[in-house]
Amino acid sequence: DGGAPQDDCLFCKIVGGKIPATVVRETDTTLAFRDINPQAPTHVLVIPKVHHPDAASLAAAEPAILADVVREAGEVAAEEKLDSYRIVFNTGSGAGQTVFHAHAHLLGGRGMQWPPG
Ligand code: 5GP
Ligand code: ZN
Repeated sequence: DGGAPQDDCLFCKIVGGKIPATVVRETDTTLAFRDINPQAPTHVLVIPKVHHPDAASLAAAEPAILADVVREAGEVAAEEKLDSYRIVFNTGSGAGQTVFHAHAHLLGGRGMQWPPG
């Protein structure tokens, strides 16, 4: 999990074009695409193209790319004209992480509860 593509990783397959996705933005280091099971009117996943299992691992190994992910989430929010939005990094299965390739959820277009539960 040191950044190299993983054959068994769903999001590495999306980066590699082996699984289709509805891409909304792409940079040299990131890909943003619509979640297949949206939880809000805007629900976009922003991922690093490199493979790391979660956001903290990405931050430790390649901090500039984590910054790229967060900046791109903000760019998607701006494109979707969201004045309020939430960025979530589920980390660990107990917190709902199901894909172990770092990703930000960008959620917006509806009211957001706090605490999230
Ligand atoms: P997690 O639960 O790991 O934080 O987030 C994984 C997200 O990936 C979920 O919201 C899920 O709906 C989404 N997802 C799972 N498989 C696919 C897929 O094949 N395509 C897309 N676009 N999203 C997916
Ligand atoms: Zn991966």
